[in-house]
Amino acid sequence: PGVQLPHDPQKKTIVVLGSGWGATSFLNTLDTTDYNVIVISPKNFFLFTPLLPSVAVGTLSPRSIIQSTRYVTRHKTRAVEVIEAEAQHVDVANKTVSFIDNSAIQGELSATTIPYDYLVYAVGAEVQTFGIPGVTEHACFMKELHDAEKMQRLFLDCLESAAFHGQSEEEIKRLLHIVVVGGGPTGVELSGELHDFLEEDLKSWYPELADKIKITLVEALPSVLPMFSKRLIEYTVSTFKESKIDILTQTMVKEVKDKSVKLALPDKTVIDMPCGMVIWAAGNRGRAITQDLMAQLPGAQTNKRGITIDEYMEMKGTNGSIFAVGDCTSSSHAPTAQVASQQGAYLARAFAQRVKRDDLEAKVTELERSVAMILHDDERKKTQDELEGAKRQLAKFKIRPFTYSHQGTLAYIGSDKAIADLPFLNGSFASGGFLTFYFWRSAYLSTLFSLRNRTLVATDWVRTKIFGRDVARE
Ligand code: FAD
Ligand code: NAD
Repeated sequence: PGVQLPHDPQKKTIVVLGSGWGATSFLNTLDTTDYNVIVISPKNFFLFTPLLPSVAVGTLSPRSIIQSTRYVTRHKTRAVEVIEAEAQHVDVANKTVSFIDNSAIQGELSATTIPYDYLVYAVGAEVQTFGIPGVTEHACFMKELHDAEKMQRLFLDCLESAAFHGQSEEEIKRLLHIVVVGGGPTGVELSGELHDFLEEDLKSWYPELADKIKITLVEALPSVLPMFSKRLIEYTVSTFKESKIDILTQTMVKEVKDKSVKLALPDKTVIDMPCGMVIWAAGNRGRAITQDLMAQLPGAQTNKRGITIDEYMEMKGTNGSIFAVGDCTSSSHAPTAQVASQQGAYLARAFAQRVKRDDLEAKVTELERSVAMILHDDERKKTQDELEGAKRQLAKFKIRPFTYSHQGTLAYIGSDKAIADLPFLNGSFASGGFLTFYFWRSAYLSTLFSLRNRTLVATDWVRTKIFGRDVARE
């Protein structure tokens, strides 16, 4: 990394909350020469979410899709402080953040408050449960790394319990029934990965049980993957049919129990469907800290879906002190990694422009002072001309607004097939199948932030191809 510039009390301090897509992209792009930067996140790493379902079935190792936040910050011109802690409260009026270390091991100091000049708010969202009974207690989420690890453990536990000597047929059927709730891309990709695990590995590891494994995808809306084109939705539905993944649309999960899910069917009848485990992928909702932040600005922040920002990522009502990116915001864009990373990179470039604008403002103030003090006519005229030039430059100076460039939507649907809706020659190009699968793999490989992660993921794919997935339960 070389020698980094130290914290400079004369410079403005940017506090970044989060280490996900928005925050990491911001840190990657930011020139820290002119700012002190402090990053606060309960996770000291970045998680490459698109490959999380692959971790849940053991295609990839957990460590292959995470990258330490210090990996990014150690290359910066000025030393960046990385704090593993959870922000609990942002005080908008006093421009401070309070945070706590809630990890297993804590030092004498584990809670504090620091001031900021600018806050880059990128805490993402949490899993939406709609307050449905039993979800938090009995379902497994698919949002964080520990969710994927937990799902892998529970799924293998279902298999081992089904293999218990003398288990009844009915109980085996229940234990081997996996219900995925939510027909968005998370639920679909996870169902596809589970199917691959079954076909490619479980049939040889558990030959007596594999045929009894059943995957059901439950979706409240009339169709899965509403963000994809009709042709790709149909392609997914027919691939799932071949893969024997049942899709129940217009079916709402009303309760998750220990050994079953309560479903409201399209004809409004309510049934209890026995199952071994439930994976909950029913979308996002704002975090408590975000609701608390928005509640401080009741006039400007009224959108229940998240923080209202302008085209410069500025949180409305904060006078240019808080900028928000990613899933915590309610913009016209979908809450995706693609949007969060473009917003983060844009914001970092805008901060570089902000420094130039601040320098110009300082120059104008300085020249105005000089003009007032210079007595010699010629010299004053020269400085006056310089001042006019600087003022013209300042008047012309504009920070460009954010524009989103959609690169397309990709999803893996299992059986070495992927679907892609790509913006193509001003239209849309929809594609599905094996070629798209290799495109999906290469697109994600190139999107991974580091050579280390690319190498680990590529090696895992080769390892899985040769040796299969592991069924040892940690
Ligand atoms: P996140 O990436 O969630 O980051 C939030 C960060 O804030 C985390 O580091 C978190 O630890 C931190 N944090 C949380 N609470 C606090 C706190 N109190 N204080 C400080 N820090 C906090 N999108 C795509 O475009 N393509 C895909 O293929 C794709 N696949 C996905 C697959 C899965 C399984 C999932 C769950 C999502 C997927 N997404 C995909 C969506 C994408 O992951 C999100 O849109 C993206 O993560 C949003 O980025 P973010 O920075 O807003 O939030
Ligand atoms: P989502 O919001 O896209 O889908 C959740 C689905 O769950 C919805 O279709 C909803 O109708 C359904 N649902 C909610 N409650 C239900 C209930 N009680 N019973 C049955 N169904 C219910 O959520 P997601 O799939 O987690 O995706 C979140 C965001 O991340 C989206 O913006 C998505 O585009 C993005 N993402 C993208 C990719 C990709 O591009 N490959 C992959 C994963 C996630």
